[in-house]
Amino acid sequence: MQPQFDIQLSDSVTAQRREKALQNPGFGVHFTDHMAVVEWDSEQGWHNAAVTPYAPLQMDPAAAVLHYAQEIFEGMKAYRQPDGGIALFRPGKNAVRFNRSAKRLALPEIPEELFLEACRQLVRADEAWVPETAYHSLYLRPFMIADEVFLGVRAAQRARFIVIACPAGDYFPGGVKPLDLWLSTKMTRAAAGGTGFAKCGGNYAGSLAATAEAYENGCQQVLFTDAYDRDSIDELGGMNLFLVTDDNKLITPEVNGNILEGVTRDSIIQLAKNLGYEVAERRVTISEWREGAATGAIREAFACGTAAVVAPIGRLLVKDAPEIKLPEPTGTITMQLREELMGIQHGTISDTNGWLERIS
Ligand SMILES: *Cc1c(COP(=O)(O)O)cnc(C)c1O
Repeated sequence: MQPQFDIQLSDSVTAQRREKALQNPGFGVHFTDHMAVVEWDSEQGWHNAAVTPYAPLQMDPAAAVLHYAQEIFEGMKAYRQPDGGIALFRPGKNAVRFNRSAKRLALPEIPEELFLEACRQLVRADEAWVPETAYHSLYLRPFMIADEVFLGVRAAQRARFIVIACPAGDYFPGGVKPLDLWLSTKMTRAAAGGTGFAKCGGNYAGSLAATAEAYENGCQQVLFTDAYDRDSIDELGGMNLFLVTDDNKLITPEVNGNILEGVTRDSIIQLAKNLGYEVAERRVTISEWREGAATGAIREAFACGTAAVVAPIGRLLVKDAPEIKLPEPTGTITMQLREELMGIQHGTISDTNGWLERIS
């Protein structure tokens, strides 16, 4: 039986703090007044579901997550709709993916309905935090940590599921600008049999040095290739990748156990097909990209994920090799897909795929 949420609203909410945050939300810096928490242990299963005032966690220094990184997370957004209501975008996909990650990290799976209810209850408690500014949204961060007090190396017998939220501004506040990518030739993020398909903090920890290298080279994001052939494209540190050909086809790396299967990736594939574009999910290499960009056979490239939605790519920089320049750095099809998807999410374009879930 699913635990009922005990709703404990904060008595120290200030509209002033919220309004200031909403004026300039940025990303991941201002958190809402509440959080949703559900506890799990191997004896009782999921229990103690609550929405409580946002506060630091009490944790024993020997909690498993602090030592063995037994942690997973999700990222999704709540969007203010033109009629003033609020909608989530395909949240069921996040729930399913969360459990895929849980299985791989030996964490308990959570009933999808409990995952979704925690998200809904938090958004309802913090409804005033869902921005009304165009293309702003409320970012939800569900996550699970192993908090058993034990340094032995095995799956923890105790865990906590938590949802926090922060308002998110426009990813491109000054207008859409193409990203420059840095190709990571030394470091990879995933390998066969590893955790590449799971959304876990450990994957991110492993990508940060490569991201630092990208920054040092003037790029905003890092691109990872396959750990063995070092030529097949996997994805960015936290976004999937698409190439667009001169005959209006989209190419994206296939789901291969190493890439994270993005909800945005899946939605783009569906939207592109609806718009009459062919989409190939297949192995695609840096060599193919380099040659295609030179001949003009590959015109556009973009990255996609919940945070940026669709981010056009201008160049791919490679150490000791010429840079790859896209013929159309803020491409027509890239921008068309971006506007379609954002329009659906924010309720200004009709949701013919049934992707929005209204929660108020
Ligand atoms: C979250 C994530 C993505 C994008 O997934 P969305 O569901 O589209 O937000 C892509 N790659 C990695 C590594 C990720 O963690």
